[in-house]
Amino acid sequence: MIRDPKRRADLERELERELSAEPTVHNPANAEPWMDQALCAQVDPEIFFPEQGNSAATARKICLVCPVLAACDEFAERQTDLYGMLAGKTALERRKAHRKSRLSRAGELEILGDLSA
Ligand code: SF4
Repeated sequence: MIRDPKRRADLERELERELSAEPTVHNPANAEPWMDQALCAQVDPEIFFPEQGNSAATARKICLVCPVLAACDEFAERQTDLYGMLAGKTALERRKAHRKSRLSRAGELEILGDLSA
């Protein structure tokens, strides 16, 4: 538990900033350099937006051999509101990973609070 209210407020602001700093895939101004090597940019984009009930297996297979999977995976964890496959994960899977990461971060802040007390 973080007892110092100023320290707690600073850490909460820092966490908020990290969580809200989401680049947008559709804004070229925010495109990241690794996106030039994305395999999904070289195939039919429909593969990454399967209709409900259709399999996303092909997209997952492409992601598994993509040279920028690691960078995309890090990026995908911040993309909770985009439809379609990213880094071999559906939007639902990304939201779950994001939530897990957020809870883990909150736990780290609690530990920091215990250490600073
Ligand atoms: S990992 Fe998948 S979604 Fe990400 S850039 Fe590569 S092909 Fe595209």
